[in-house]
Amino acid sequence: MPFKLFEVDKEIPDREKHIYVKDTDDPVEHIPKCNTKTIPGCMTERGCAFAGVKGVITGAVKDVVHVVHSPVGCTTYGCGSKRYPTSPDLPNGEKFPVENFNLKYIMGTDLKESDVVFGGMKKLRQSILEAAKEFPYVNAIYTYATCTTGLIGDDMEAVAKELSEEIGKDVITFNAPGFSGPTQSKGHHVGNLTLFNHLVGTKEPPETTPYDINLIGEYNIDGDLWVLKPYFEEMGINILSTFTGDCSHDEICWMHRAKLSLVRCQRSATYIAELIEEKYGVPYIKVDFFGPKYCAENLRALGKYFGKEAEAEKVIESRMKQIQPELDFYREKLEGKTVWVFSGGPKNWHIPQPLEEHLGMKTVAVSTMFEHEDGYEKIKERVGEGTVIIDDPNSLELEEIIEDYKPDIILSGIKEKYIAHKMGTPCMLIHSYENGPYMGFEGFINLARDIYASIYSPVWNMVEFKDEIREEE
Ligand code: SF4
Repeated sequence: MPFKLFEVDKEIPDREKHIYVKDTDDPVEHIPKCNTKTIPGCMTERGCAFAGVKGVITGAVKDVVHVVHSPVGCTTYGCGSKRYPTSPDLPNGEKFPVENFNLKYIMGTDLKESDVVFGGMKKLRQSILEAAKEFPYVNAIYTYATCTTGLIGDDMEAVAKELSEEIGKDVITFNAPGFSGPTQSKGHHVGNLTLFNHLVGTKEPPETTPYDINLIGEYNIDGDLWVLKPYFEEMGINILSTFTGDCSHDEICWMHRAKLSLVRCQRSATYIAELIEEKYGVPYIKVDFFGPKYCAENLRALGKYFGKEAEAEKVIESRMKQIQPELDFYREKLEGKTVWVFSGGPKNWHIPQPLEEHLGMKTVAVSTMFEHEDGYEKIKERVGEGTVIIDDPNSLELEEIIEDYKPDIILSGIKEKYIAHKMGTPCMLIHSYENGPYMGFEGFINLARDIYASIYSPVWNMVEFKDEIREEE
C-alpha cells in the first residue's frame, strides 16, 4: 500500500492515511484521506471557514464594505487579503471613488467579554450603520459570523434584514464561523450559497448579448482576469459577470442572464455554477488557463461553444508568437529542475503538467490544505510515478519533505515560504503570486521568470548554514 508515514509523524500514525506516493498500478480510489478535521498534534497550515468566505470568495468584490462580527483578532485576520486588485469601473458607467477599496478597508464589531455575556447584536447594528455612514458610496455591506458570534448565537440575519431596509442597500450575512468546517473550503461553500440565495436573479444587467458568459472562480489574483479578458474580447465574447475578481456587487445579481458559465477555480466556486444551471438553465464548463497548452485547449472549447473557432485560433496564434522566444529561454534554464507544488486548490492539478510540458520541470511533491476527493483524483492523474501527495501537511512534515525530496523550488503560500528559506530552499508564492499575473499565455512567462529568478538567485550561494544542513543530512 503506497501510503507513507513520515519520521516526524511516528507519534501520530493516523497521518499515514493522508500521505500517498503515486503508484500507477494502484486502484483509482487510493488517494490521501482528506476534508477531515486536522489530527490533534499537527501544526496545520490551514485557514478557517470564515477565512474561506472573506479571504477567497467575497474579498475580491470591489464596491462593498465588510463588517466582521468578532473580537478584533478575526477582523485583523480578515484584513489580510490575497492580492485581488480592482479597477474603479462599475457596470453603470460610473467610477468607484477609491482605488483598490477591497484591499484597504475592513470593519469589525470589536466584541468584548460583556458582549459575549449579554449578546453582540447591538454592536453589530451600530457597526453596520457606522460603515454605511463612513463609506456612503459602497453598494452593499457584507457581514460575517465568526467563532465567537457563532457560539453566542447572535441572530445576524435579523439585523441584516432590518438594516437593509433602513439603509436601502443589500446587507448580507455570511454564516461560516471558523469552527463550522474542517477547512476554509466550508467557507467557500457557504459564500457560494449565500450569494446565490440572496443575490442571483435579483437584478437585470444594463444590456445583454448572445455571447455573455459568467467567469466563475476567477479572483483576479495579481491581475489574472486582466490577462484573460482581452482574449475573450478579441473573440467577441462578453464577460457579463465575474465571480468575484474585480466584480461589482450588482454583477453577482444578474449572473442568471449569462449564456454560459466558465468555472476556473473548481474547488471554491463550482457550487454556484451548479446552482445557476439548476435554477436558471445556464450550462457551465470547467476551464483551466494555466500554461499555453491548457489555455489554447480551453479557448478552443469556448470558441466551439459559441461558433467562434477562427477567433479562438487567432488569439492563440498571436499569443504563442509573442511568448515563444521567452518560453524557449526559460525551458533551457529550468529543464530537469524539481518542484514541490503546495497550493490551496486546483492549482495543484493545473500547474504540474504545464511546468513539465513547457519547462521540462519535474513535480516531486504536491500538497494542499483543503482539497477534496475529486481534486486528489485529478492530482494523482496528472503527476508522475513516485510523486508524494500530502493532505494538510504539518510544519514538521514540511521540513522532512524538503530534506527527503530536495525540490529545487517550492511553490506555496506565505506561511511556508520562510520555513523553506531558512532551510536554504527557494520558495515563491503561488497563492498570491510574486510578480503576477500567472494566468494565460503571458502569465505563464511571468511564472517561469519568477521560478527562474528564485532558483538562480545568487543569494542561495551566500546562505552560510546551508552546508551545515546538507552535512546533517
Ligand atoms: S473565525 Fe474562529 S478560527 Fe477564524 S479567525 Fe476567528 S476565531 Fe479564529
